[in-house]
Amino acid sequence: MNREAMPIHIDYMRTAASNVILIGESAGADWILIDAGMPGFAAAIAGKAAELFAGRAPLAIVLTHGHFDHVGSLPGLLRRWDVPVYAHKHELPFLTGKADYPASVLVGGSGLLSRIVPRHPHKGIDLGEQVLALPPDGSVPGLPEWRWIATPGHSKGHVSLFREDDRTLIAGDAILSVKPEAAFTVLAREEEVHGPPEPFTDDWNRAGESVQKLARLKPEALFCGHGLPMAGVALRDSLERFAANGLPCGSSSD
Ligand SMILES: [Zn+2]
Ligand SMILES: [Zn+2]
Repeated sequence: MNREAMPIHIDYMRTAASNVILIGESAGADWILIDAGMPGFAAAIAGKAAELFAGRAPLAIVLTHGHFDHVGSLPGLLRRWDVPVYAHKHELPFLTGKADYPASVLVGGSGLLSRIVPRHPHKGIDLGEQVLALPPDGSVPGLPEWRWIATPGHSKGHVSLFREDDRTLIAGDAILSVKPEAAFTVLAREEEVHGPPEPFTDDWNRAGESVQKLARLKPEALFCGHGLPMAGVALRDSLERFAANGLPCGSSSD
């Protein structure tokens, strides 16, 4: 069946500070959820899914990484949907209760954020056997046109997702379309490529390499973990400029 007859549907939803992405082939068709947002948004995410996909559960949930702002509503969603969760194998220790992320202080939390950020945001969660390693061949379960790309640095097992056909990139926190210092504020609206948010980013050299890797993909559309989607000339110019200048390592640590 051709693309016109069966359009690919990509949508995103903001959960206070971070985005979740919903990808399906059409209304009522199989679909996949990318990331699970901030805590407290399970009902809202499920509501959006019901609107887009006629109430069907996703085939799977794929995580770009396991930081609290990307898995916050996962427990609530898994109570609704008994589906597998996929992440990079290097992220699994943080998702199975075996490791915590480096402790880090979140700055700039607004009133809303201070209510929904957990007391220990660096603590890993324990999904037990419900979380599985992404296939080593780069394929993405449930999304045959997509492949996952290792983009470590912001976290050890961070991945981005890419569809070659229309050069759509889902970059998680490897690059942002909002200033990193504004990633956790509610009002951030901007269309410019930036590096990962400083909280938790534990390897700036690898994070810089990951930015270069993503720039080489020459994406035509970009969805990030924080900030608005970007596309076309604005994305191309901004990403090229950003990649050429390199990542300011640990921006506030000079
Ligand atoms: Zn993160
Ligand atoms: Zn994030």
